[in-house]
Amino acid sequence: MSPTPARLPRKSDAQRARAMEIHDALVERHPDARCELDHTSPHELLVATILSAQATDVGVNKATPGLFAAYPTPEALAAAGPEGIEPHVRTLNFFRNKARAIAESMRSVVERHGGEVPRTMEELLELRGVARKTANVVLGNAFGINLGVVVDTHVGRLSKRFGLTRHDEPLKVERDLMALFPQEHWTMLSHLLIFHGRRVCKARGGACAEDAICRRFCRNAAAAAKDSARNASRKDARKTARKTARKTARKTATRASRRTRAAR
Ligand code: SF4
Repeated sequence: MSPTPARLPRKSDAQRARAMEIHDALVERHPDARCELDHTSPHELLVATILSAQATDVGVNKATPGLFAAYPTPEALAAAGPEGIEPHVRTLNFFRNKARAIAESMRSVVERHGGEVPRTMEELLELRGVARKTANVVLGNAFGINLGVVVDTHVGRLSKRFGLTRHDEPLKVERDLMALFPQEHWTMLSHLLIFHGRRVCKARGGACAEDAICRRFCRNAAAAAKDSARNASRKDARKTARKTARKTARKTATRASRRTRAAR
């Protein structure tokens, strides 16, 4: 895979301005947005990111303290090998593959990079278990290098719903985002979208009608508002019908009892 998405798509000034409005609204809404994988060094972040594939950050953060206490350096992780790493990460999906990827990537870090995690996309992509998303996480969060945008499931979903891309394929979504947002915002942008995705726009139905950012920028919000208004008026109509039916039944029963009494 090419280290940098070639030829970014053209975007109009209006599209870029709208993108920045979304960015600013998200910054205001989620001032605590940040990388949620606990780490104290670039190699810890690299390991945590390898472990985070198909796993939650919370799950990874439970596993890594024990792993890093047992093997605190790239040298120690490389020497531990998959057998030494596995017991610490067995709560996570695909832990055997991940343990192997960690041991081998740390061996490369030691043997080819003097024990320091490399700072270029090309070198990171040569490490076992590291694809573009992982490399972007490490470059952006460990080194402050904005070389791309991390596109995970939240970023992909939100980007589409906010009309920032029409694509599903992560690399195409990333190219659209890189074309829309200034480079200095790329790392934080993905944290902002991830926070909004976790808190508001969840995969199985978001808080569409209630959220101010959504109402302003997402087409789904208007549809959701209409739906909820329609549901509310249906609910009201059902309530009124039930009330009327109860009233009629009461009247009928009263009349019937009067007739019975009159007949006696
Ligand atoms: S309006 Fe709904 S679908 Fe759109 S971003 Fe908000 S929560 Fe997600």
